[in-house]
Order: sequence, then structure tokens, then C-alpha cells
Amino acid sequence: MIRKHWSLLTEHQDCDICPASESASHIVLRCFPASVIWATFHMNDLASSSTDIVHFMHRAQQAWINSRGVHILFAAAAVTLWHARNDRIFNNKRWPPSYLRREVHDEVSQARQKASTMKHRRQEQESARREKLRQAFLKKRLDKLMAEKQASSASDDQPNS
Ligand SMILES: [Zn+2]
Repeated sequence: MIRKHWSLLTEHQDCDICPASESASHIVLRCFPASVIWATFHMNDLASSSTDIVHFMHRAQQAWINSRGVHILFAAAAVTLWHARNDRIFNNKRWPPSYLRREVHDEVSQARQKASTMKHRRQEQESARREKLRQAFLKKRLDKLMAEKQASSASDDQPNS
């Protein structure tokens, strides 16, 4: 979804708040709002010295042990910066640093929540599957016991010799 929007940038001009030409890398790694966000996570040096987004992600993943965390943070930052950029361009609104940080924070918690909901759903499916297997097993056991009981009561009916 983000990528689709960014393809529109190819014919685009300069950044609206600084003299650099506007590209995805510029918006997400180098422009002022990006530096606000990355500084919050002590990643501003990494962001500003990376040649592009792929390079940045590669280096961030090497630097961080939790690579899922890097992905969530990056997605949250990219979405926030993109929204901030659109709000500037189309609505003439500037997001102050505190607002940028809060937006990223909200995006991160939403992504985490979504991930844990999905995990929870998977766990539920897994326990439902196990319950089904358990019931099938119990039914089989019961059938077997019934069959044995029938067989033994049938032999009980035999007259004693
Ligand atoms: Zn800029």
C-alpha cells in the first residue's frame, strides 16, 4: 500500500520543507520529521548515513537483535512520515515533533496488538484442532470398550460348564 503511493513520487519535485529532491528515502530517512523520529530511537546516525531504505533496514537488522521489532518500528515510522507529508502538502498542516512521536508510538502499539491478536487466533485454532483430535481419540476408546464389554457380557451369557 505504501509502495504504491511512493511510485507517484518518481515524477515529483523537491521536498516541500527542504531543498533536497523528494524521494522515499528522503522522506523516511533524512528529512526533518524523519530525523525527529529516528532520534527518538537513537537511530538517526544510522538513518542519515544509509544510502536508501533497503540499506537502512539491512543495517538496522544487523544492529538490533529483535528483527521483528525493527520491521514494526520501520513500518510505523514510514506510515507516520507519509501521513505527515500528505498532511503538509494537501492540508498545509505541520506535525510538531511530539505529535510525530505519538503517532509512531500509536502505530507501533497497533501493529503489536494486531500481531498478538493473530497469535491468539492461531493458538485458539490450534487448541480447537487438538480438542477435536482428543475427542476422536476418546470416541475410538469408548467404541473399543463398548465392543469389549459386549463381547464379555456375551460370554457371561454362556452357561457354565
Ligand atoms: Zn525534506
